[in-house]
Amino acid sequence: MAELDNLYKAVILEHFKHPRNKGLLNDATYKTHRIKNPSCGDDITIQSKVENHQIVDCRFEGVGCSICLASASVLTEIAIGKETSDAKKVADNYLKMIRNEAFDESIDLEEAEVFSGVKVFPARIKCASIAWQAFLKTVFDEDEKQ
Ligand code: ZN
Repeated sequence: MAELDNLYKAVILEHFKHPRNKGLLNDATYKTHRIKNPSCGDDITIQSKVENHQIVDCRFEGVGCSICLASASVLTEIAIGKETSDAKKVADNYLKMIRNEAFDESIDLEEAEVFSGVKVFPARIKCASIAWQAFLKTVFDEDEKQ
């Protein structure tokens, strides 16, 4: 189990150091949503472009801790190319997983699995949530669950 934790930490650190899809575009066809987490200094903006119910691009910008920035980077990679309904399933299950709520384990969370350990650190749950909450807002205009 310790080895698994180390692997997960390595993936998180790798995304933190080499973030994917970072930098916003000045393009009105993208929807943008920003969420801050004052308790940690996290400040994340997500940008998504949807065409024919498919997420054709997803980008982020922001500052924050390694968990927050890595979760944004992982999110963008998972989201791009997905049907919006599939992306919502993954996002909903990811948010349940990190909140230690019952979730559908048949849904593949892909690389987002690496954040499963966050549930035992209540102070970090928000760090790992805000990028995904902002993402849902850009695609579905849903309000954040507090
Ligand atoms: Zn944080």
